[in-house]
Amino acid sequence: MSTTDLRVAGDGVTGEYRPAPASVPSARPQGQGLTGVESELPDSRRDLVNLVRTGSVASVHSWELVTAVDGPGTRMTVFFSGCPLRCLYCHNPDTMEMRRGEQVQTASLIDRMLRYRRIFARTGGGITLSGGEPLMQPKAVARILRAAKTAGIHTAIDTSGNLGWRCTDEMLADLDLCLLDLKSGHRSTYQQVTGARLEPTVAFGQRLARAGVEVWVRFVLVPGVTDDLENIAEVARLAAQISTCTRVEVLPFHQMGRDKWDELGMEYQLAEVEPPSAAAVESARQIFRQHGLTTY
Ligand code: SF4
Repeated sequence: MSTTDLRVAGDGVTGEYRPAPASVPSARPQGQGLTGVESELPDSRRDLVNLVRTGSVASVHSWELVTAVDGPGTRMTVFFSGCPLRCLYCHNPDTMEMRRGEQVQTASLIDRMLRYRRIFARTGGGITLSGGEPLMQPKAVARILRAAKTAGIHTAIDTSGNLGWRCTDEMLADLDLCLLDLKSGHRSTYQQVTGARLEPTVAFGQRLARAGVEVWVRFVLVPGVTDDLENIAEVARLAAQISTCTRVEVLPFHQMGRDKWDELGMEYQLAEVEPPSAAAVESARQIFRQHGLTTY
């Protein structure tokens, strides 16, 4: 997911979706952004895991209805649980582990999405599947994308691209927009920031372009970590190589997720890092613009 917007994802401000309790333990108290839909689930953990595997059940942190973030128009953004990365600046570390999510029927999520069809049509919005990393649960994502396209709803995923290989050609055919988090241009910095390799993200960006899927690149400017000018230029170069990239968002690092790291007992390495200055953010944006990219 993007770590970039100032909204703290999934705290349920607008969510009304509350699934029936599942047998898998959840560290997250109920009712934060998951209310309103019945969801019958099996008692056995093994049965539940199988249903998650087939995509009929999804492990979800929360969902919310938002405007002007996560894609065009008013959107229903669903935050899936589980992520293969460990970004130093993640502002939702409680989405990293799939077991911390709530298990919900994918059909219930689809029902909820269909209720907003008119709002989506009126605002040019749609559904955005975020996380965590939505491609940790590709079968559920595929079902939702298919249902959305069948109903004429605009679709987006918000991903690091690290698991892009799990996105099938059929899923790409059902995808209108990918919010692709390019966390660094230099491989060593990418590894430092995420604990993972950059190559899968680059490969996924190229695959999105070949499939004709529109891409919005997101880059988080973290002083002392990702703000090396050559690193930014390399991100810009990679973004410019994605022929379907229509927009770049440079987002300043912030400290809004810090308390969650403490609550989870996880070591937070960026405690002393200040947000970048407005001038530094603008300078970074200029680098992207020099590569011909529409940048915000
Ligand atoms: S750890 Fe995962 S959810 Fe957190 S910022 Fe990184 S990619 Fe997003």
